[in-house]
Amino acid sequence: MPKLTQLSPLKTPHRMGPASATFEPPAWVEWLGITGQGGAALAFVSILMGVATSRIAISKHLRVRSTTVSAWVAAMVKAQLVTELPSRPGGRGRPLGQLIANPNRLAVAVLMVHSQALHLVTVNLLGQEIWHDSAVVDPQGDNAAMDAILTALQQRALAALHMVGISYALAGLINVDEANWVFAARWPGIRNFKLTALPVPAGGALNVVRNMDAQLRARCIRRGTGGTTERTLMLHWGYGIGAAFSASHGASVDNTTGFGEVGHWQLSNRNLRCRCGHSGCLETVAALWAIGPQLLGESFDDAMDETQAAELLRAMPLTEHPAFRLALQEVVLAASNLCRVFFPSHLVITGPFIENPGAWAAFTEAFSKRGLLVDLPLPRLEAQNSSHQLEQEGAAVPLLLDGLLQLLEPSAV
Ligand SMILES: [Zn+2]
Repeated sequence: MPKLTQLSPLKTPHRMGPASATFEPPAWVEWLGITGQGGAALAFVSILMGVATSRIAISKHLRVRSTTVSAWVAAMVKAQLVTELPSRPGGRGRPLGQLIANPNRLAVAVLMVHSQALHLVTVNLLGQEIWHDSAVVDPQGDNAAMDAILTALQQRALAALHMVGISYALAGLINVDEANWVFAARWPGIRNFKLTALPVPAGGALNVVRNMDAQLRARCIRRGTGGTTERTLMLHWGYGIGAAFSASHGASVDNTTGFGEVGHWQLSNRNLRCRCGHSGCLETVAALWAIGPQLLGESFDDAMDETQAAELLRAMPLTEHPAFRLALQEVVLAASNLCRVFFPSHLVITGPFIENPGAWAAFTEAFSKRGLLVDLPLPRLEAQNSSHQLEQEGAAVPLLLDGLLQLLEPSAV
């Protein structure tokens, strides 16, 4: 039996039961759009979202014949995705049975890294969390400690629910194709952690994604591009620092997976030791793990979630703090250089610091002053609030989508 001495609950106890109200349903119509699949799955989504909840309503909403709708409803009922209530007594003509979706027919486990903690949430078809458990992994932990904690978290979740698979949304350097967590600055003692060795739900799928790629993909899909080309660079400035890039061509979204480790870019004239083992990395002067103790003093906690950090930082006179000013200067420089590499049309900054209005104003001013090359226009700047919605959606929906299509359109999968 693995030792679980490093498994300790977060301050907020894990919860199980009905959904948290903070998450919205996935943008199902848009997600289905990128698969090119419609039909029964789209009809199911219409019922799930309450847009059309009878055969006639689906027929009108999707502009399809009633015989087609009948076939879809039969498939949905057979797959236990939908229940059809009996028609109204005394009704004439075609029965008006109400269709009720079962959002818990499929669920997926999503493993996310928030600060020093692992969060395992199980998400249903409405994006509701039906299980949430977490554990802090000690910064000194090694592969064996990570294995023990992940295995325990997963076994608890897998025993409780039927799932289509597990999706790891990870921070750090990840070999996605080989499901290998190469390195994470949060746990310097963990190297080449093989995710394939961990338990997977029976018959379920394993999905590995960089957390920023999951977030950016869900964001682009939610936004839609209206057939235009949009190049989005997302820079996360938080506990760690990272970036993701995506180019949208109409409905399709290409993520540049495995995008480099911006947080470990080398700075000149800096020699602070970084968690990655090198010195002079950007994170050593700008990441929350590095400057959090100076900014927040006693209130700083390595295990705090970025949304909690954002709450604390929001009302502080951040721009007056020398440590923050240096961090801002280096992050703006990194953002500005990234724009010279990727030429994004849109630069999205995420993380707890920019939720401070003064800090965001200082960021936009310093970024604009740097300009781009010749007279090229600067990308549109946007601050995105700390939320795990997009990360969770981007990690969960691909597996839920596969599960749904396998149930309803097996020939298309
Ligand atoms: Zn480093």
